[in-house]
Amino acid sequence: MGKGVAFAFQIGGRELDPAQMEDPQEAALLQEIVESVVDRTELLQCSEHGEPPRFLCSGENINELSLEVFGCCESLVGEVEKLLNEAAE
Ligand SMILES: [Zn+2]
Repeated sequence: MGKGVAFAFQIGGRELDPAQMEDPQEAALLQEIVESVVDRTELLQCSEHGEPPRFLCSGENINELSLEVFGCCESLVGEVEKLLNEAAE
């Protein structure tokens, strides 16, 4: 994982560590999500505050996850969301 990028998973109300999942397929799925997001955003930090973005991936189960972006201010969050949207196209 890139330096400074924090990534958390919360599934069914429980916080999960992809490295500690019993099912290797599920662990790989979560790891893929982390990598795809971190690859695109690891160099990004707030131009005003120097803070990196943080991510929370949450949902009722592993197949219905949505990603939320957190940051020190709205401009960082906006920048990250723009980058992720661009990369998805
Ligand atoms: Zn900021």
